[in-house]
Amino acid sequence: MVGRRSRRWSADDPDQVSGNPRPDPACPLCERPIPPRARSSLHHLTPKLKGGTHRGTVRLHQICHSAIHARYSEAEIAKRLTDVEALRTDPEIARFLAWVRGKPDDFHAATRMTRDRRASRRKA
Ligand SMILES: [Zn+2]
Ligand SMILES: [Zn+2]
Repeated sequence: MVGRRSRRWSADDPDQVSGNPRPDPACPLCERPIPPRARSSLHHLTPKLKGGTHRGTVRLHQICHSAIHARYSEAEIAKRLTDVEALRTDPEIARFLAWVRGKPDDFHAATRMTRDRRASRRKA
């Protein structure tokens, strides 16, 4: 009854032989890891325009970063979204996060305008 399953393939598993003991950094927005192959970029918690410095940057998935800027202007971010907690609890961002958490860690898609913005553009 004992099956001698071949485990030969496991030695070739890229995750086993990559020799990279460091865990991927986590995205503070969605809390998923950011794998090296995923697109990511730095977000200024306080927009540069408003006196933000390099210290106030966080690395986010590109798609998470785009989600912020697709919804809010620099002025709005500077006014009330200057820390990760504020971003995460914003209803619009929270909705995005609930959606993106069901995607692969390296998922990327072009960020489209929200439905409201698209609808307002439609010809009457
Ligand atoms: Zn993220
Ligand atoms: Zn940004």
